[in-house]
Amino acid sequence: MPLDEISIARRAVVNLGAGPGIQPEAALRNMSASILNHAESGMGIMELSHRDVGGPIQTLMQDTKDQIKGLLAVPDSHEVLLMHGGAWAQFAAVPMNLIGDAQAQGFGCTSWVRTGNWGDIARGEAEPHLPTHTAASFDPTTPGGLAVPDFDSWEVRSDAAFVHLCANETVTGIEYKEDPDLAQIVANQAGRIAADGTLQPGRAEVKTSTKLLNQASDLPPLVGDFTSCLLARLVDISKYGVVYASGGKNVGPSGVCVAIVNKDLVDSRTAHPLCPAVMNYQRILDQDSRLNTPATFNIMALHEVLKWLESHGGVPAAQRWADARSGAVYDAIDSSGGFYANHVEAKDRSRLNVPFRIPKRGGEGFDVELEADFVAEAAARGLQQVHVALPPALLGGNGAKQGGGLRLSMYNALPVEDAIKAAQFMDDFRRRHA
Ligand code: PMP
Repeated sequence: MPLDEISIARRAVVNLGAGPGIQPEAALRNMSASILNHAESGMGIMELSHRDVGGPIQTLMQDTKDQIKGLLAVPDSHEVLLMHGGAWAQFAAVPMNLIGDAQAQGFGCTSWVRTGNWGDIARGEAEPHLPTHTAASFDPTTPGGLAVPDFDSWEVRSDAAFVHLCANETVTGIEYKEDPDLAQIVANQAGRIAADGTLQPGRAEVKTSTKLLNQASDLPPLVGDFTSCLLARLVDISKYGVVYASGGKNVGPSGVCVAIVNKDLVDSRTAHPLCPAVMNYQRILDQDSRLNTPATFNIMALHEVLKWLESHGGVPAAQRWADARSGAVYDAIDSSGGFYANHVEAKDRSRLNVPFRIPKRGGEGFDVELEADFVAEAAARGLQQVHVALPPALLGGNGAKQGGGLRLSMYNALPVEDAIKAAQFMDDFRRRHA
Protein backbone atom coordinates (compact mmCIF):
# COMPACT_ATOMS: atom_id res chain seq x y z
CA MET A 1 0.00 0.00 0.00
CA PRO A 2 1.52 3.39 -0.91
CA LEU A 3 2.06 5.65 2.08
CA ASP A 4 -0.72 8.09 1.28
CA GLU A 5 -3.20 5.20 1.23
CA ILE A 6 -1.93 4.11 4.62
CA SER A 7 -2.64 7.58 5.95
CA ILE A 8 -6.10 7.52 4.45
CA ALA A 9 -6.79 4.13 6.03
CA ARG A 10 -5.54 5.32 9.40
CA ARG A 11 -7.57 8.52 9.25
CA ALA A 12 -10.75 6.56 8.60
CA VAL A 13 -10.32 5.07 12.06
CA VAL A 14 -10.81 6.71 15.44
CA ASN A 15 -8.71 4.53 17.71
CA LEU A 16 -10.29 4.60 21.16
CA GLY A 17 -8.40 1.59 22.50
CA ALA A 18 -7.34 1.49 26.14
CA GLY A 19 -3.98 -0.05 25.32
CA PRO A 20 -2.14 -0.93 23.33
CA GLY A 21 -3.65 2.16 21.85
CA ILE A 22 -3.01 4.82 19.25
CA GLN A 23 0.54 6.00 18.51
CA PRO A 24 1.44 9.10 16.45
CA GLU A 25 1.57 8.31 12.74
CA ALA A 26 4.70 10.41 12.17
CA ALA A 27 6.46 8.45 14.91
CA LEU A 28 5.33 5.14 13.41
CA ARG A 29 6.79 6.18 10.05
CA ASN A 30 10.14 7.01 11.64
CA MET A 31 10.07 3.66 13.45
CA SER A 32 9.62 1.82 10.19
CA ALA A 33 12.64 3.64 8.71
CA SER A 34 14.70 2.74 11.78
CA ILE A 35 13.87 -0.94 11.36
CA LEU A 36 15.88 -0.93 8.14
CA ASN A 37 18.48 1.75 8.73
CA HIS A 38 18.77 3.14 12.22
CA ALA A 39 20.29 6.63 12.47
CA GLU A 40 21.92 6.24 9.02
CA SER A 41 24.08 3.40 10.33
CA GLY A 42 23.23 1.07 7.47
CA MET A 43 21.94 -1.36 10.09
CA GLY A 44 18.46 -1.81 11.46
CA ILE A 45 17.53 -1.06 15.07
CA MET A 46 17.30 -4.79 15.82
CA GLU A 47 20.78 -5.39 14.45
CA LEU A 48 22.77 -3.07 16.69
CA SER A 49 24.60 -3.90 19.90
CA HIS A 50 23.94 -2.06 23.12
CA ARG A 51 27.58 -2.67 24.12
CA ASP A 52 29.02 -0.38 21.45
CA VAL A 53 30.30 2.42 23.72
CA GLY A 54 28.89 5.71 22.49
CA GLY A 55 27.32 3.86 19.56
CA PRO A 56 23.81 4.28 18.16
CA ILE A 57 22.01 2.27 20.87
CA GLN A 58 23.76 3.93 23.79
CA THR A 59 23.12 7.31 22.18
CA LEU A 60 19.47 6.40 21.65
CA MET A 61 19.07 5.35 25.27
CA GLN A 62 20.72 8.49 26.59
CA ASP A 63 18.59 10.66 24.31
CA THR A 64 15.42 8.87 25.41
CA LYS A 65 16.22 9.36 29.09
CA ASP A 66 17.05 13.02 28.44
CA GLN A 67 13.79 13.48 26.58
CA ILE A 68 11.80 12.12 29.53
CA LYS A 69 13.75 14.32 31.91
CA GLY A 70 13.11 17.36 29.72
CA LEU A 71 9.42 16.70 29.08
CA LEU A 72 8.67 16.02 32.75
CA ALA A 73 11.22 18.38 34.33
CA VAL A 74 12.71 15.45 36.26
CA PRO A 75 14.86 16.88 39.08
CA ASP A 76 18.55 15.90 39.43
CA SER A 77 17.65 13.83 42.49
CA HIS A 78 15.94 11.31 40.20
CA GLU A 79 17.08 9.02 37.39
CA VAL A 80 15.14 7.49 34.52
CA LEU A 81 15.38 3.71 34.21
CA LEU A 82 14.34 1.96 31.00
CA MET A 83 13.06 -1.41 32.15
CA HIS A 84 11.26 -4.49 30.85
CA GLY A 85 8.09 -6.31 31.70
CA GLY A 86 5.57 -3.49 31.69
CA ALA A 87 3.93 -2.12 34.80
CA TRP A 88 3.26 -5.61 36.14
CA ALA A 89 7.00 -6.09 36.60
CA GLN A 90 7.01 -2.85 38.63
CA PHE A 91 4.18 -4.15 40.79
CA ALA A 92 6.67 -6.82 41.89
CA ALA A 93 9.80 -4.64 41.72
CA VAL A 94 8.48 -1.90 44.00
CA PRO A 95 8.07 -4.07 47.13
CA MET A 96 11.21 -6.07 46.37
CA ASN A 97 13.32 -2.92 46.09
CA LEU A 98 11.74 -0.78 48.76
CA ILE A 99 11.08 -3.18 51.62
CA GLY A 100 14.44 -4.91 51.74
CA ASP A 101 15.11 -6.04 55.29
CA ALA A 102 11.80 -5.03 56.86
CA GLN A 103 12.87 -5.81 60.40
CA ALA A 104 16.10 -3.84 60.24
CA GLN A 105 14.31 -0.88 58.69
CA GLY A 106 11.31 -1.08 61.04
CA PHE A 107 8.76 -1.59 58.29
CA GLY A 108 5.49 -3.15 59.33
CA CYS A 109 3.40 -2.65 56.21
CA THR A 110 3.10 -1.27 52.73
CA SER A 111 0.39 1.35 52.34
CA TRP A 112 -2.16 1.65 49.53
CA VAL A 113 -4.47 4.33 48.26
CA ARG A 114 -7.35 2.42 46.67
CA THR A 115 -8.89 3.86 43.53
CA GLY A 116 -9.73 0.79 41.45
CA ASN A 117 -8.50 -2.42 39.96
CA TRP A 118 -4.95 -1.54 38.93
CA GLY A 119 -3.97 -0.30 42.37
CA ASP A 120 -5.51 -3.43 43.84
CA ILE A 121 -3.59 -5.67 41.45
CA ALA A 122 -0.33 -3.95 42.38
CA ARG A 123 -1.20 -4.42 46.04
CA GLY A 124 -1.67 -8.13 45.45
CA GLU A 125 1.96 -8.38 44.36
CA ALA A 126 3.08 -6.71 47.60
CA GLU A 127 0.96 -8.88 49.90
CA PRO A 128 3.42 -11.77 50.24
CA HIS A 129 6.06 -9.38 51.60
CA LEU A 130 4.35 -7.50 54.43
CA PRO A 131 0.81 -6.82 55.59
CA THR A 132 -0.80 -4.25 53.33
CA HIS A 133 -2.56 -1.26 54.83
CA THR A 134 -5.29 0.85 53.26
CA ALA A 135 -4.16 4.47 53.46
CA ALA A 136 -7.42 5.61 51.90
CA SER A 137 -10.06 4.13 49.65
CA PHE A 138 -12.61 5.09 47.06
CA ASP A 139 -16.04 3.64 47.71
CA PRO A 140 -16.78 1.13 44.96
CA THR A 141 -20.32 0.64 46.24
CA THR A 142 -21.39 4.10 45.10
CA PRO A 143 -21.41 3.64 41.33
CA GLY A 144 -23.15 7.02 40.99
CA GLY A 145 -20.31 9.03 42.47
CA LEU A 146 -16.91 7.43 42.52
CA ALA A 147 -14.11 9.74 43.58
CA VAL A 148 -10.43 9.56 44.40
CA PRO A 149 -9.91 9.77 48.17
CA ASP A 150 -9.10 13.36 49.22
CA PHE A 151 -5.50 13.79 50.26
CA ASP A 152 -6.69 14.80 53.73
CA SER A 153 -8.40 11.47 54.22
CA TRP A 154 -5.16 9.52 53.80
CA GLU A 155 -3.81 7.75 56.86
CA VAL A 156 -0.02 7.65 56.79
CA ARG A 157 1.67 5.14 59.08
CA SER A 158 5.16 5.53 60.45
CA ASP A 159 6.01 1.91 59.69
CA ALA A 160 5.01 1.99 56.01
CA ALA A 161 7.78 0.97 53.61
CA PHE A 162 6.02 3.11 50.97
CA VAL A 163 2.66 4.58 50.04
CA HIS A 164 1.34 3.60 46.61
CA LEU A 165 -1.22 5.33 44.42
CA CYS A 166 -2.44 4.82 40.87
CA ALA A 167 -2.59 8.27 39.28
CA ASN A 168 -5.13 7.27 36.66
CA GLU A 169 -7.21 4.14 36.97
CA THR A 170 -7.62 3.02 33.38
CA VAL A 171 -10.69 0.89 34.10
CA THR A 172 -12.41 2.80 36.88
CA GLY A 173 -11.90 6.04 34.96
CA ILE A 174 -10.80 8.16 37.89
CA GLU A 175 -7.72 10.34 37.99
CA TYR A 176 -5.65 12.21 40.55
CA LYS A 177 -5.02 15.47 38.72
CA GLU A 178 -2.62 16.76 41.36
CA ASP A 179 0.30 15.25 43.20
CA PRO A 180 -0.02 14.72 46.93
CA ASP A 181 2.26 16.49 49.35
CA LEU A 182 2.91 13.77 51.90
CA ALA A 183 4.51 16.20 54.37
CA GLN A 184 1.35 18.33 54.30
CA ILE A 185 -0.88 15.27 54.65
CA VAL A 186 1.10 14.14 57.69
CA ALA A 187 0.98 17.62 59.23
CA ASN A 188 -2.81 17.64 58.86
CA GLN A 189 -3.03 14.10 60.20
CA ALA A 190 -0.99 15.01 63.29
CA GLY A 191 -3.62 17.63 64.14
CA ARG A 192 -6.40 15.07 63.80
CA ILE A 193 -5.17 12.36 66.15
CA ALA A 194 -7.55 12.51 69.13
CA ALA A 195 -6.51 11.77 72.72
CA ASP A 196 -8.05 8.29 72.54
CA GLY A 197 -5.88 7.45 69.57
CA THR A 198 -8.55 7.68 66.89
CA LEU A 199 -8.20 9.70 63.74
CA GLN A 200 -10.86 12.42 63.54
CA PRO A 201 -13.04 13.18 61.75
CA GLY A 202 -14.23 10.25 59.76
CA ARG A 203 -11.81 7.49 60.65
CA ALA A 204 -13.05 6.65 64.15
CA GLU A 205 -12.45 2.99 63.38
CA VAL A 206 -8.74 3.72 63.15
CA LYS A 207 -6.97 3.23 66.44
CA THR A 208 -3.39 3.07 65.41
CA SER A 209 -2.03 6.24 66.94
CA THR A 210 1.23 4.56 67.82
CA LYS A 211 1.71 3.87 64.16
CA LEU A 212 0.27 7.05 62.68
CA LEU A 213 3.00 9.35 61.55
CA ASN A 214 2.76 12.65 63.38
CA GLN A 215 5.78 14.45 62.07
CA ALA A 216 6.94 15.13 58.57
CA SER A 217 10.41 13.69 59.05
CA ASP A 218 10.95 10.11 57.95
CA LEU A 219 8.13 10.22 55.44
CA PRO A 220 7.58 6.98 53.57
CA PRO A 221 8.31 7.36 49.87
CA LEU A 222 5.38 7.82 47.56
CA VAL A 223 5.13 5.46 44.59
CA GLY A 224 2.92 6.29 41.62
CA ASP A 225 1.63 4.08 38.82
CA PHE A 226 1.30 6.55 35.95
CA THR A 227 0.85 3.94 33.22
CA SER A 228 -2.21 5.51 31.63
CA CYS A 229 -1.49 9.19 32.26
CA LEU A 230 2.25 9.85 32.11
CA LEU A 231 2.97 12.70 29.68
CA ALA A 232 -0.66 13.85 29.78
CA ARG A 233 -0.10 16.28 32.64
CA LEU A 234 2.82 17.91 34.39
CA VAL A 235 3.88 15.82 37.37
CA ASP A 236 5.85 17.04 40.36
CA ILE A 237 8.35 14.20 40.23
CA SER A 238 10.09 15.49 43.38
CA LYS A 239 7.07 14.34 45.39
CA TYR A 240 7.64 10.70 44.44
CA GLY A 241 10.21 8.08 45.34
CA VAL A 242 9.22 6.07 42.27
CA VAL A 243 7.04 6.93 39.28
CA TYR A 244 6.47 4.16 36.78
CA ALA A 245 4.60 3.86 33.51
CA SER A 246 4.58 1.08 30.97
CA GLY A 247 4.15 1.47 27.25
CA GLY A 248 1.06 0.77 25.19
CA LYS A 249 -0.49 4.18 25.86
CA ASN A 250 1.48 7.46 25.99
CA VAL A 251 4.89 5.89 26.53
CA GLY A 252 5.58 4.03 23.30
CA PRO A 253 4.86 0.37 22.75
CA SER A 254 3.90 -2.19 25.39
CA GLY A 255 6.62 -4.15 27.15
CA VAL A 256 8.95 -1.27 27.90
CA CYS A 257 8.56 0.46 31.25
CA VAL A 258 9.86 3.80 32.38
CA ALA A 259 10.69 3.99 36.09
CA ILE A 260 11.76 7.36 37.46
CA VAL A 261 13.46 6.71 40.77
CA ASN A 262 14.86 8.88 43.51
CA LYS A 263 18.53 7.91 43.64
CA ASP A 264 18.88 8.52 47.40
CA LEU A 265 15.91 6.27 48.04
CA VAL A 266 17.43 3.48 45.97
CA ASP A 267 20.75 3.93 47.80
CA SER A 268 19.08 3.83 51.18
CA ARG A 269 17.16 0.59 50.66
CA THR A 270 18.54 -2.90 50.23
CA ALA A 271 16.66 -4.98 47.72
CA HIS A 272 15.16 -8.26 48.86
CA PRO A 273 17.69 -11.11 48.39
CA LEU A 274 15.26 -12.82 46.02
CA CYS A 275 14.82 -9.70 43.87
CA PRO A 276 15.82 -10.71 40.33
CA ALA A 277 18.72 -8.66 38.99
CA VAL A 278 16.60 -7.48 36.08
CA MET A 279 14.19 -5.84 38.56
CA ASN A 280 16.82 -4.47 40.92
CA TYR A 281 16.76 -0.67 40.75
CA GLN A 282 20.30 -0.29 42.09
CA ARG A 283 21.72 -2.64 39.51
CA ILE A 284 19.78 -1.10 36.64
CA LEU A 285 20.87 2.34 37.83
CA ASP A 286 24.52 1.27 38.08
CA GLN A 287 24.39 -0.31 34.62
CA ASP A 288 22.69 2.65 32.95
CA SER A 289 19.64 0.48 32.09
CA ARG A 290 21.89 -1.94 30.22
CA LEU A 291 22.25 -4.75 32.75
CA ASN A 292 20.82 -7.18 30.24
CA THR A 293 19.98 -6.54 26.59
CA PRO A 294 17.60 -3.59 26.58
CA ALA A 295 14.38 -3.69 24.57
CA THR A 296 16.11 -1.67 21.88
CA PHE A 297 13.26 -1.70 19.38
CA ASN A 298 10.77 -0.54 22.00
CA ILE A 299 13.12 2.15 23.23
CA MET A 300 13.60 3.45 19.69
CA ALA A 301 9.81 3.52 19.32
CA LEU A 302 9.49 5.38 22.61
CA HIS A 303 12.16 7.85 21.46
CA GLU A 304 10.17 8.57 18.28
CA VAL A 305 6.95 9.08 20.26
CA LEU A 306 8.76 11.50 22.58
CA LYS A 307 10.26 13.36 19.61
CA TRP A 308 6.78 13.77 18.22
CA LEU A 309 5.48 15.08 21.54
CA GLU A 310 8.41 17.50 21.90
CA SER A 311 7.72 18.93 18.44
CA HIS A 312 4.02 19.36 19.23
CA GLY A 313 4.27 21.45 22.37
CA GLY A 314 5.29 18.87 24.99
CA VAL A 315 3.31 18.00 28.09
CA PRO A 316 1.52 21.38 28.44
CA ALA A 317 0.03 20.83 24.96
CA ALA A 318 -0.84 17.21 25.81
CA GLN A 319 -2.62 18.46 28.92
CA ARG A 320 -4.73 20.86 26.83
CA TRP A 321 -5.60 18.13 24.32
CA ALA A 322 -6.61 15.76 27.12
CA ASP A 323 -8.88 18.44 28.59
CA ALA A 324 -10.43 19.18 25.20
CA ARG A 325 -10.96 15.54 24.21
CA SER A 326 -12.43 14.42 27.50
CA GLY A 327 -14.49 17.63 27.77
CA ALA A 328 -16.21 16.82 24.45
CA VAL A 329 -17.05 13.25 25.53
CA TYR A 330 -18.20 14.15 29.05
CA ASP A 331 -20.40 16.87 27.50
CA ALA A 332 -22.03 14.21 25.34
CA ILE A 333 -22.71 12.19 28.49
CA ASP A 334 -23.92 15.11 30.62
CA SER A 335 -26.17 16.53 27.92
CA SER A 336 -27.76 13.15 27.16
CA GLY A 337 -30.59 13.57 29.68
CA GLY A 338 -29.57 10.34 31.43
CA PHE A 339 -29.25 8.25 28.26
CA TYR A 340 -25.56 7.80 29.12
CA ALA A 341 -24.25 7.57 32.68
CA ASN A 342 -20.72 8.06 33.94
CA HIS A 343 -20.19 7.10 37.55
CA VAL A 344 -17.38 9.45 38.54
CA GLU A 345 -17.60 12.81 40.31
CA ALA A 346 -16.82 15.57 37.81
CA LYS A 347 -13.61 16.72 39.50
CA ASP A 348 -12.06 13.24 39.41
CA ARG A 349 -13.16 12.10 36.00
CA SER A 350 -10.28 10.65 34.04
CA ARG A 351 -9.26 12.68 31.03
CA LEU A 352 -7.75 9.59 29.40
CA ASN A 353 -10.32 6.84 29.94
CA VAL A 354 -14.04 7.53 29.97
CA PRO A 355 -16.12 4.55 31.12
CA PHE A 356 -19.89 4.90 30.83
CA ARG A 357 -23.09 2.93 30.70
CA ILE A 358 -26.47 3.08 29.03
CA PRO A 359 -29.06 2.75 31.81
CA LYS A 360 -32.26 0.84 31.02
CA ARG A 361 -35.08 3.22 30.30
CA GLY A 362 -37.77 3.05 32.96
CA GLY A 363 -36.07 0.22 34.77
CA GLU A 364 -33.24 -0.87 36.97
CA GLY A 365 -29.83 -1.72 35.65
CA PHE A 366 -28.24 -1.23 32.28
CA ASP A 367 -29.22 -1.97 28.72
CA VAL A 368 -26.52 -4.44 27.78
CA GLU A 369 -27.99 -5.11 24.34
CA LEU A 370 -28.01 -1.42 23.50
CA GLU A 371 -24.42 -1.15 24.71
CA ALA A 372 -23.47 -3.99 22.38
CA ASP A 373 -25.26 -2.11 19.57
CA PHE A 374 -23.24 0.97 20.49
CA VAL A 375 -19.99 -0.95 20.06
CA ALA A 376 -21.10 -2.46 16.75
CA GLU A 377 -22.41 0.81 15.30
CA ALA A 378 -19.34 2.68 16.48
CA ALA A 379 -17.08 0.15 14.75
CA ALA A 380 -19.11 0.47 11.55
CA ARG A 381 -18.39 4.22 11.65
CA GLY A 382 -14.66 3.65 12.23
CA LEU A 383 -14.73 4.17 16.01
CA GLN A 384 -12.61 1.20 17.02
CA GLN A 385 -11.68 -0.57 20.26
CA VAL A 386 -14.60 0.74 22.31
CA HIS A 387 -14.21 -1.83 24.99
CA VAL A 388 -16.93 -3.47 27.00
CA ALA A 389 -14.81 -4.32 29.99
CA LEU A 390 -15.90 -2.73 33.22
CA PRO A 391 -15.25 -4.64 36.45
CA PRO A 392 -18.20 -5.97 38.46
CA ALA A 393 -18.00 -3.24 41.11
CA LEU A 394 -18.72 -0.60 38.49
CA LEU A 395 -21.38 -2.46 36.64
CA GLY A 396 -24.07 -1.88 39.25
CA GLY A 397 -26.88 -4.19 40.29
CA ASN A 398 -26.39 -7.63 38.84
CA GLY A 399 -23.91 -6.20 36.37
CA ALA A 400 -21.38 -8.88 37.07
CA LYS A 401 -23.75 -11.41 35.59
CA GLN A 402 -24.91 -9.12 32.82
CA GLY A 403 -21.53 -7.92 31.61
CA GLY A 404 -21.50 -4.76 29.57
CA GLY A 405 -20.17 -1.26 29.93
CA LEU A 406 -18.48 1.10 27.50
CA ARG A 407 -15.17 2.92 27.55
CA LEU A 408 -13.49 5.45 25.29
CA SER A 409 -9.76 5.86 25.83
CA MET A 410 -8.06 8.95 24.47
CA TYR A 411 -4.30 9.05 24.64
CA ASN A 412 -1.87 11.71 23.48
CA ALA A 413 -1.75 10.60 19.86
CA LEU A 414 -5.52 10.82 19.38
CA PRO A 415 -6.32 14.04 17.49
CA VAL A 416 -8.80 16.24 19.36
CA GLU A 417 -11.07 16.17 16.31
CA ASP A 418 -11.32 12.38 16.69
CA ALA A 419 -12.68 12.81 20.22
CA ILE A 420 -15.17 15.32 18.82
CA LYS A 421 -16.19 12.73 16.21
CA ALA A 422 -16.71 10.21 19.02
CA ALA A 423 -18.85 12.71 20.94
CA GLN A 424 -20.88 13.45 17.80
CA PHE A 425 -21.42 9.73 17.31
CA MET A 426 -22.64 9.48 20.91
CA ASP A 427 -25.16 12.30 20.29
CA ASP A 428 -26.31 10.70 17.08
CA PHE A 429 -26.65 7.24 18.64
CA ARG A 430 -28.66 8.71 21.51
CA ARG A 431 -31.04 10.52 19.13
CA ARG A 432 -31.66 7.32 17.23
CA HIS A 433 -32.11 5.07 20.24
CA ALA A 434 -33.55 7.26 23.02
N1 PMP B 1 -1.36 0.09 35.56
C1 PMP B 1 -2.30 0.70 34.82
C2 PMP B 1 -2.91 1.95 35.36
C3 PMP B 1 -2.67 0.19 33.58
O1 PMP B 1 -3.59 0.81 32.85
C4 PMP B 1 -2.04 -0.99 33.10
C5 PMP B 1 -2.35 -1.57 31.74
N2 PMP B 1 -3.56 -1.27 31.21
C6 PMP B 1 -1.08 -1.60 33.91
C7 PMP B 1 -0.76 -1.03 35.12
C8 PMP B 1 -0.39 -2.86 33.46
O2 PMP B 1 0.51 -2.55 32.47
P1 PMP B 1 1.29 -3.68 31.66
O3 PMP B 1 0.25 -4.52 31.01
O4 PMP B 1 2.12 -2.92 30.71
O5 PMP B 1 2.10 -4.45 32.64
